[in-house]
Amino acid sequence: MLRIKRVPTMVSNYQKDSEEQQQVGCGRNCLRSCCLPGANLPLYTFKKVKNMMDEKMESPVPFLDSLLLGEWEDRVQRGLFRYDVTACETKVIPGQSGFIAQLNEGRHLKKRTTEFRVDKVLQPFDGSKFNFTKVGQEEVLFQFEETDGDEAQFFPSAPIDTDNSPSVVAINVSPIEYGHVLLIPRILECLPQSIDHKSLLLAIQMAAEAGNPYFRLGYNSLGAFATINHLHFQAYYLAVPFPIEKAATRKISILNNEVKVSELLNYPVRGLVFEGGNNMLALSDAVSDSCICLQDSNIPYNVLIADSGKRVFALPQCYAEKQALGEVNPELLDTQVNPAVWEISGHMVLKRKQDYEEASEENAWRLLAEVSLSEERFQEVKDLIFESIACGEDGCVTSTHSLDAELDAISSGADHSLVPGNQECLVQQ
Ligand SMILES: [Zn+2]
Repeated sequence: MLRIKRVPTMVSNYQKDSEEQQQVGCGRNCLRSCCLPGANLPLYTFKKVKNMMDEKMESPVPFLDSLLLGEWEDRVQRGLFRYDVTACETKVIPGQSGFIAQLNEGRHLKKRTTEFRVDKVLQPFDGSKFNFTKVGQEEVLFQFEETDGDEAQFFPSAPIDTDNSPSVVAINVSPIEYGHVLLIPRILECLPQSIDHKSLLLAIQMAAEAGNPYFRLGYNSLGAFATINHLHFQAYYLAVPFPIEKAATRKISILNNEVKVSELLNYPVRGLVFEGGNNMLALSDAVSDSCICLQDSNIPYNVLIADSGKRVFALPQCYAEKQALGEVNPELLDTQVNPAVWEISGHMVLKRKQDYEEASEENAWRLLAEVSLSEERFQEVKDLIFESIACGEDGCVTSTHSLDAELDAISSGADHSLVPGNQECLVQQ
């Protein structure tokens, strides 16, 4: 079993109590049966995906945008965040790529490290650990649901339909940028951190609804720096292009449904780019088939949803595995940078002033090069993915990859060890 130690990021104000037993009538206004009955939350409904297609996705008003930021600002006023992210220094690192460095000392104030198992991408949900049903309702900005109607709508107060577990947007109390939120699909179903077709589509729909190219969603699998095993995406605004978005690409294939798949060129992390397609669903399915292939093959990965949901990056990675095996340069480890989706995309969140001051394109490149699969391994992974996508198009994978099948895979403990023969490996930070 491969494990690494790291300082966990606090994403909710209730996380610190997560290991404590909950009393009956918890009084924290949470999202569990103790506090849900009779509770109301704002509700944003977006129009069905079929109504979104074939149209230029232009809302009359950037409603989700202003709603999300308005609600987020309100939580700032209420003092729910652990620090003021707007006070964090940020700069664009000189050079061709335009890496962005942020000095964020507040995010890691907690000194105690936690052990994370990094050799298993699919792990069953564990209700005794922190999960998003334990956050306070005040941390939830709104429910995010599809509607049968033709227009997006907002209801300032709506009942929570516990029978149809709502998807919700909540604040991340340790933000790395303005408007940093979490999208938690079907929160009450308590899904483990793994991508399925429905959830990825929801994330792409959110990017499309926001309709702002500076609003991106990201996903970290277990083993690729997700810290909470409860299905969630992250999202925030950053008003500059990410280096990964500017990287050159080479077309590999056009799938039957017109989805174009390319690979990144001249970028430190090898990865695939999905875009185009007959419609949003086609794009979403191609990406989720790929993600499901990666997680079923026990390959940690990150996903970036960019360009208002029209471009999606899939990035298999091996940093945590190398870290657990003691194969990462100690200088890089000293920075304690966790290369999750944002860092891989080129937004480097640095914990030490010294690293911030010395940030250079070369340093960023050096770190990210450690994250990337080798050329040879990437080729193998690409082959795996294309096999599963091609198969999916014939209907033989897509149909069997229901959530149930994924959960079966988890509970049956399908464990393909990435690195045989290196068990119980510990890295002290
Ligand atoms: Zn409660």
